[in-house]
Amino acid sequence: MNQENIIQSPSAVRPHVVLLGAGASLAAFPEGDVSGRRLPLMNDLVEVVGLEPFIEPISAELDIEKNFEKIYSMLKANPRHRCLVEKIEEKIDSHFSSLKMPKEANKYDFLILSLREKDAIITFNWDPFLFDAYMRNVNVRRIASLPKIYFLHGNVRIGYCRYHPERWGERRGLCPICSNRFEGVPLLYPDKKDYSSPEYIQRSWEEAKYLLREAFVLTIFGYGAPDSDADAVDLLKSAWMERSERRIEYVEIVDIKSSDEDLRSDLYTCWEGFTPTKHLKLIDSIWNSWIMMYPRRSVEGLIPIQFGGEPVETFPLDRSEGSLRRVQRQIFDIAQWEIEDD
Ligand SMILES: [Zn+2]
Repeated sequence: MNQENIIQSPSAVRPHVVLLGAGASLAAFPEGDVSGRRLPLMNDLVEVVGLEPFIEPISAELDIEKNFEKIYSMLKANPRHRCLVEKIEEKIDSHFSSLKMPKEANKYDFLILSLREKDAIITFNWDPFLFDAYMRNVNVRRIASLPKIYFLHGNVRIGYCRYHPERWGERRGLCPICSNRFEGVPLLYPDKKDYSSPEYIQRSWEEAKYLLREAFVLTIFGYGAPDSDADAVDLLKSAWMERSERRIEYVEIVDIKSSDEDLRSDLYTCWEGFTPTKHLKLIDSIWNSWIMMYPRRSVEGLIPIQFGGEPVETFPLDRSEGSLRRVQRQIFDIAQWEIEDD
């Protein structure tokens, strides 16, 4: 089937859901923010964020632990460290809030622009770049709808209205209903099992689970499903498996580990609960994902294969130049065929 057929007749209603982890931000911004400040993973967060002065005095207690989630859980479990924990949380918040996204189009721009309103990106990331990329593309909405985004562990850029919790946006922005300023959504740490507040988080979880249940395709991008996040992953897994047995499931994992033969089996083990028939597409770059092969038509591109039809010709966007306007113009050419999905 040729690309014109697919581009000119969008038909899919089922969502494509992306689960985004810290590895995605690292892959999208390998050179860091505009000033070269690096994005951390849990294993180097202490060093990247500059938490050593807080950690140093209690290093004997922490032994040689490097993983921030583990360090944080240990500190949190000891009421004596309450004050220290608050200082660490403030430092993390201020570090991530001050990051600035480089001007050139990046993987997050491509990702957001290549999905539609029926689709969603779910993330646990605290860094602001998914939100920032969303905001700088939001002006294209009159022409091309954008996916929904959910920050399940909070985020340094976002806030919500206490009186209208369905309304949220940039932290300290104004609620369009009552003009109160959006309050920050606190960062949730994986071991904080309390997903009960604030209401923004509860709603995000409910909507994310609904979309996962309905999803036709799941892309997991740079998310390692750490042990400390096991409860969260279980919730997502039950949602994904709730509607369908996923016998002909479409799950793709974007992870640099997939280029290493020895590490590929770890990925299979990690995600086996999501794929009962063990059909996993392992790729080491988001550029090889279904989203990028069939921008804004990923589900339409996969349906003919499911029904035994001939594969659909792929039509990746030209990314030879880093100009965001140029990427958006390519998106307009595809989106002009869409009647608003929702
Ligand atoms: Zn309000």
